[in-house]
Amino acid sequence: MSSYQSINPANNELMKSWPSHDESAVSHALDVADRLFHSSWSKGEIQPRLQVLKKLADLIDSRAEELATIASKEMGKLIGQSRGEVKICSQIARYYAEHAERILQPQAYPSELGEAWVEYHPIGVLVAVEPWNFPYYQLMRVLAPNLALGNPVLAKHANIVPHCADVFEKLVREAGAPEGAWTNLFISNEQVADLIADDRVQGVALTGSERAGSAVAEQAGKYLKKSTLELGGNDVFVVLDDADLDEAVRQGVQARLSNCGQVCTAAKRFILHEKIADRFISQFSAALSSATLGDPLDEKTTLGPLSSADARDRLVKQVDEAVANGATLVTGGKAAEGAGCFYQPTILTGITPNNPAYYQEFFGPVAQVYVVGDDNAAVALANDSHYGLGGSVWTRDTARGRKLASAIETGMVFINSQSDTSAELPFGGVKRSGYGRELSDLGIKEFANQKLVVVA
Ligand code: NDP
Repeated sequence: MSSYQSINPANNELMKSWPSHDESAVSHALDVADRLFHSSWSKGEIQPRLQVLKKLADLIDSRAEELATIASKEMGKLIGQSRGEVKICSQIARYYAEHAERILQPQAYPSELGEAWVEYHPIGVLVAVEPWNFPYYQLMRVLAPNLALGNPVLAKHANIVPHCADVFEKLVREAGAPEGAWTNLFISNEQVADLIADDRVQGVALTGSERAGSAVAEQAGKYLKKSTLELGGNDVFVVLDDADLDEAVRQGVQARLSNCGQVCTAAKRFILHEKIADRFISQFSAALSSATLGDPLDEKTTLGPLSSADARDRLVKQVDEAVANGATLVTGGKAAEGAGCFYQPTILTGITPNNPAYYQEFFGPVAQVYVVGDDNAAVALANDSHYGLGGSVWTRDTARGRKLASAIETGMVFINSQSDTSAELPFGGVKRSGYGRELSDLGIKEFANQKLVVVA
């Protein structure tokens, strides 16, 4: 039986199984990708590759509703949010189609040694290990910059989103990419390890858990391959005493419920100034508990299911453990009745540093709430985390917000907005949230040979 299955998490119905790739299929895929790297596709002019990205953006826009529906059925994302994910995919493809040539222009370095510059070249075949929470966007973050640069990609997908992976690969080919530019592999973790070890593979990009990141980075280190890791986060949502409270509550609810809470950069730890804490908690709790759970394809639903029964069971265990260790439930705290992988929107308070929950990421609609007396305490609590991905700070005093943003140890901070992503902005973190950046000019250079040339 294949482990790649499309199961609707709203009702647990198995929609389709997908065959896994055996050794000979993997070996063929690697041969084809490597041959492509040594061809004029990768080594020649950039324009033909950018034309593919432009066409891909148009194709995605023209098939947006179909793509959104597939994602909602396969991993439970609300249909409106699936449309949003599809839209950002075409924006990323278009961004690199329009800007990659400029970004990859040789850069001059004034030097005593002579005329010096750095050129940007592709390095070879990459492996991308990708998760299920944004089953198109995560793929596009790797595909668009690397297609522009000329690196062929072998993509290993999470085993619960094969349908999204399948339509994505077909669209890339339909847009004119040659065989080998982007190849789906439905393979095991052991097969990924073998691929990373192969001399023809030059790098690996992973988005997923710490466990997966650590295993893949260990293998990449052993074989001296470049890697980028985009792992979990335990992002703060700091609300200061002078914040626009209604807007902070509105976006705080969105930030915790979007994608059923399964976002690496979602607000997970709400740090409230003591002067506004009671009001925030009461408005936040009222809004969260009035969420409408249901079919992600129904426009009236405001909270869909988690992506799988495993994801729900993991959350049930985590919340039970947090409460057993002294946390207080303000609202929620249980899986929802009936078929499907639903979990009630939940708020936990009173989490002390000796509670395992204090350092844990809750990948679902569960908010941890903390109260602090001043800005320094907010920063200290924000930085008392193994993770360092994103964060958000709410204040009407921008100078105060900038000070906090600089002091928070993460790769991204937003002032007066929940975390967001855009093609032209870098994405990534520090500490156990991983290393390297995706998107923007920084992302496209991660897997480039940044080659120095000097004319004496
Ligand atoms: P995983 O990290 O297990 O899955 C992400 C991808 O990594 C999948 O393709 C998975 O494959 C693959 N993978 C896992 N282990 C290995 C390995 N040893 N070698 C190669 N590939 C591997 O995520 P889960 O689905 O288990 O989610 C658990 C937690 O991960 C969440 O609670 C959250 O904390 C974090 N997460 C973070 C995401 C983010 O956006 N940063 C996205 C998803 C999860 P397979 O499915 O075959 O195991």
